Amino acid sequence: MKWDAWGDEAKAKPLSDNIRALLQQALGVSADEVAGPDRSEVVLQPSALGDDDLRALRDVVGDGNVSRADADRLPRAGGKSTLDLLRRKSRTPQAAPDAVVLPGNDDEVAALLQVCSRRRIAVVPFGGGTSVVGGLDPVREKFSAVVSLDLRRFDQLESLDEVSGEAVLGAGLPGPKAEELLAARGFELGHYPQSFQYATIGGFAATRSSGQDSSGYGRFDDMVCGLRVVTPSGKLELGRAPASAAGPDLRDLFLGSEGTLGVITAVRLRVHRLPEVKRFEAWRFDDFDTGAAALRAVAQLGTQPTVIRLSDEAETGVNLAMTDKIGGEQVTGGCLAVTVFEGTEQQVAARHELTSAVLREAGGTSLGPEPAQAWEHGRFDAPYLRDSLLAAGALCETLETATSWSNAATLKAAVTSALQSALAETGTRSLVLCHISHIYPTGCSLYFTVVAAQRGDAVAQWQQVKRAVSDAIMANGGTITHHHAVGVDHRPWMTDEVGELGVRVLRAVKNELDPHGILNPGKLIP
Ligand SMILES: Cc1cc2nc3c(=O)[nH]c(=O)nc-3n(C[C@H](O)[C@H](O)[C@H](O)COP(=O)(O)OP(=O)(O)OC[C@H]3O[C@@H](n4cnc5c(N)ncnc54)[C@H](O)[C@@H]3O)c2cc1C
Repeated sequence: MKWDAWGDEAKAKPLSDNIRALLQQALGVSADEVAGPDRSEVVLQPSALGDDDLRALRDVVGDGNVSRADADRLPRAGGKSTLDLLRRKSRTPQAAPDAVVLPGNDDEVAALLQVCSRRRIAVVPFGGGTSVVGGLDPVREKFSAVVSLDLRRFDQLESLDEVSGEAVLGAGLPGPKAEELLAARGFELGHYPQSFQYATIGGFAATRSSGQDSSGYGRFDDMVCGLRVVTPSGKLELGRAPASAAGPDLRDLFLGSEGTLGVITAVRLRVHRLPEVKRFEAWRFDDFDTGAAALRAVAQLGTQPTVIRLSDEAETGVNLAMTDKIGGEQVTGGCLAVTVFEGTEQQVAARHELTSAVLREAGGTSLGPEPAQAWEHGRFDAPYLRDSLLAAGALCETLETATSWSNAATLKAAVTSALQSALAETGTRSLVLCHISHIYPTGCSLYFTVVAAQRGDAVAQWQQVKRAVSDAIMANGGTITHHHAVGVDHRPWMTDEVGELGVRVLRAVKNELDPHGILNPGKLIP
């Protein structure tokens, strides 16, 4: 993964001259490239980890599995939000963890947490490094040093129960490797967030991630049957049976805990047989409200597409402008929805037929399979475009929330307006795009992409906008996050989200599991 951008350099998406001209004309983006420093020019704040501490860590994991080298610290300096990428462009000394530690088993993680508790060293668990909420910021708070605990050596398919459809996967396995190991045995997890290529099993659990196939296979937390967690106070093995009435479900404490309560080392997951067939169909709706009502009907009737998403008018328009046509079809205005169905031949035929009938009845016009196939083909590409936009002097970021169906239109309007006016206050016009990315019988998530011009200090500019839009989300009945998690960036809104008592409960749990508070300080819990 590139240290200052998304993913694989070979997949970069340079902007065409037309797009550049459009950005300049529509948003006032300056045409100048914003050149960042070369990797060799980046200066990190010096490591604050003393020699004694280094020796103590090496005693646990071996010399080769601890490093204070800048080459190892820089890629763990943060995640991949727009703020992260802008900070990587800084030529002043950048914050980074003081060392990187790579334990190889649960006992080593337990011993490391003991050493760090005794020596008052903060620990940031690190999976794929794709956090977009500051979840990996090397926050020291009261501690002398902070280390990045990288889970990459937890990379095994530990077991597969083919009868029950359960697999135990190491927390450090990236999405593609996990799917490859399962596919070799005829199984699939089916969790495809846009960060799939780099994000890990442990990271998915720690952030309650949601993938693009969530309508068919559920969110990641829906798939979790069990967890192995190591905390400074001891180890936990959670999830005894497919269902249980033995008190509150403690798995839920660690799903979404973002490295603040323990280190997840393995996850037992529900898996399914590799689908036999796949069918695609795209739909056009006259407007977003009509399309949203159609998706609501699909969710409430339970016709079970594997993927279903709806772009608003602006997002559909931009997709058209970027591609001339989407797939083989010429789409004219309105809103584009895509559906995908996976399973056995019979199941797919039945679910496709039912869903199509609902969408048609609700005002949709079929565009055939090509636009949906084209969507799937490019489903992991958009982040590369963000890199080119940032380099061209545009500000580009995404944010997400969720609410009930009855409140979706109000929340969408409030978020759009908050983004536009907050950006106008910083002196730029903006383009706000939205799609429904995940549906439930009672509501949906709304995913926004915003593009504007960078003005002055772009980090401060986005922070100002983010405050305004987060306030608008909370004031208009949304959740501060549907799947990106809390990290540093959403932490100021956690009290609004769960209440004062809710925060005290979280703090009490943390005090029990992590009495010295070494685990990921400054994240999630206010
Ligand atoms: C381009 C892009 C697209 C994205 N698309 C999606 C999307 O479609 N859906 C979605 O849900 N998210 C998405 N995200 C957000 C991000 O990918 C998810 O939050 C993902 O689950 C993080 O996984 P990771 O392995 O990269 O974790 P990291 O980024 O390494 O860590 C995330 C947080 O979890 C903690 N953590 C990581 N591993 C462990 C562990 N084993 N034990 C305890 N704590 C741990 C970290 O300390 C940190 O607080 C996207 C991000 C990017 C950059």
